[in-house]
Amino acid sequence: MLLVLLGLAFSCLAADPSWEQKFRKVPEPQNLRDYMQRLSARPHHVGSPYDKDNAEWIVGKLKSWGLDAKIENFDVLFPTPKERLVVLVEPVKFTAKLEEPAVPGDPTSNQKSEQLPSYHAYSIDGEATAPLVYVNYGIPSDYEQLQRMGISVSGAIVIARYGASWRGIKPKVAAEHGAVACIVYSDPRDDGYYTGDVFPEGPQRPRDGAQRGSVMDMPLYPGDPLTPGIGATPNAERLAISDAKTLTKIPVLPISYGDAQPLLAALKGPVAPENWRGALPITYHVGPGPAKVHLKLNFNWDIKRLYDIVVRIPGTEYADEWVIRGNHHDAWVNGADDPLSGTVAEMEEARGLAELMKQGWKPKRTIIYCFWDGEEPGLLGSTEWAETHADDLQKHAVAYINSDSNSRGFLGASGSHTLENFINGVMKDIDDPETKMSVWKRAQLAGLARAPADRKREFRNRPDLRIEALGSGSDYTAFIDHLGVASLNLGYGGEGGSGGVYHSIYDDFYWYTHFADTDFVYGRALAQTAGTAVIRLADTDLLPFQFGDFADTVRTYVEDLKKLVTEQRAQIEEQNLELEEGVFAASADPRKTFVPPSKQPLPPRFNFAPLENALDLLLQSAQQYDAARQKPPAANYRAVNTMLIESERKLTDSAGLPGRPWFRHMIYAPGFYTGYGVKTIPGVREAIEQKRWQEADEQIVRVGKILTTEADLLDEAARSLGK
Ligand SMILES: [Zn+2]
Repeated sequence: MLLVLLGLAFSCLAADPSWEQKFRKVPEPQNLRDYMQRLSARPHHVGSPYDKDNAEWIVGKLKSWGLDAKIENFDVLFPTPKERLVVLVEPVKFTAKLEEPAVPGDPTSNQKSEQLPSYHAYSIDGEATAPLVYVNYGIPSDYEQLQRMGISVSGAIVIARYGASWRGIKPKVAAEHGAVACIVYSDPRDDGYYTGDVFPEGPQRPRDGAQRGSVMDMPLYPGDPLTPGIGATPNAERLAISDAKTLTKIPVLPISYGDAQPLLAALKGPVAPENWRGALPITYHVGPGPAKVHLKLNFNWDIKRLYDIVVRIPGTEYADEWVIRGNHHDAWVNGADDPLSGTVAEMEEARGLAELMKQGWKPKRTIIYCFWDGEEPGLLGSTEWAETHADDLQKHAVAYINSDSNSRGFLGASGSHTLENFINGVMKDIDDPETKMSVWKRAQLAGLARAPADRKREFRNRPDLRIEALGSGSDYTAFIDHLGVASLNLGYGGEGGSGGVYHSIYDDFYWYTHFADTDFVYGRALAQTAGTAVIRLADTDLLPFQFGDFADTVRTYVEDLKKLVTEQRAQIEEQNLELEEGVFAASADPRKTFVPPSKQPLPPRFNFAPLENALDLLLQSAQQYDAARQKPPAANYRAVNTMLIESERKLTDSAGLPGRPWFRHMIYAPGFYTGYGVKTIPGVREAIEQKRWQEADEQIVRVGKILTTEADLLDEAARSLGK
């Protein structure tokens, strides 16, 4: 009897599952297809007529479903190309076409007058004539290898291939090494004919396809370069363009492999190391020269208007607690895959919520649906909105759920580990459209198949699948990294042809409906997944945060840091020894230039105790809180919810990371030299990687304090639940 009563009391506090089930029946693949066809009919980049037209059309749709939708404008710096020139001047002359040709049968590929030419947004203006050097992916380790070969890029134009890092890292590292300009090309090995049939026969990148993209120094701060930390509202105080810190230091341009091949073929000097060679039918040389290139770039440095769309559904019981959902709507060109495959799913979700409301449902918490503008140039729309409303968001935001491109395959979930258990629960209630098993089961079995031998046991036995940490690369960045709002990023993929037409004119309706989620059933699955997550977050009385998974994840991060230190020390010791033994001199070809590394001082022994002691507290407090939340909650769960909302904010520090104060999260950040790639416990990790020993020690203490504060909060929450 008592158990029954307790069970009843507990179930009253959980979300009513019948609304979720009704919701999941609403999204229709045909609607997704129709929205995508409408929204991708013309190019719709920031500042284009169709970007505004799309925003107004989406608002019209949302209103027609009975939702309260508004447009919020911001005014941002958005450069577009005025002059682009790449000429091989020696030893033979070749002028790069810098054109993506229309494809017969693909009806939007010929909209020349509205297409943005291929370029890198936020490259500076500039002109250079200099010898060319091939730098592989252009990441720091590639420059170490160049140094071993005795090759300097000082005064040179470097050519790097796409891949291995976010593109903006390549001109940044090139400039640090003294290069005067940078060219980035798409090698067929990475997303062209080596990987599959090329468009229009297949989904992969054709000879003349080029990848547009932002090269803004986003690891410093994303958003409008002229208004760091504040919203780019019409009257905001703006930096002069010359004072903006996130523009590149040297000019940079993307090109196709059709344009890159003559440049690379004209290089001599040493043959490129084996793992530097792409799939072009040439012998890859490093240079420098005799290839000499003339590059000239000029841009229109205009301020353009953004059209963010914001839908508010007021909550009934906890109106001050906001659940936020977002996906961008702007593209580089027609953008069917990126971003509309996600945008249209979000629209169907919004329609689904509107349908529930017509049937009498009212969310307990306030729900905010956002359709961002300006994601592509640098997360502009989401960052400016988050900065404008920072005070309110810090007070009220429960969680932010993001999506972007979506395709066929497995659900990828990443984000805050305080929501790992929650999203695992959602995944168990969604059916995979093609295999008919739950998307959780499919992800678990597929993960098991791919896992190395020593990780298979975890896939079988750990109740929750691990989710990846968030780096950067989509609109969750301002929420999690700047404001400390617990965030998730969701998307299906792995089986649609991806990558190949990314940020080119060929990412369009024709391509998507031939090679990606062609019947839009995974679009429906995304709408069902994210919508279920939103409803559950909005209606569950005690917020579904869980901390055992979070503490367990932090434990693995601390282990990783200690392993990093051990390996780094062993590697330096070994290299110093080999230098003494003459290993480098003996193993290099005496007829080729080889510069051995110099002897390095050993890193000091670090004291990880402040971090490990805090981790012990966190593991214990997390366990206690998770046990307390299993019991029927006491009356004061409202106070506990306030603490739960605080729990992600407590992982931030208003002083930010060393050298980049905009990034305030102490557990996750995009890497300063990886761009999109995440660095976990970034203050400590990057100090060790970049050999700033004293800073590493300071950051260990700092993160220890943050984790102790988190443990204290969980203790208080557990006590409140027990009362
Ligand atoms: Zn996108």
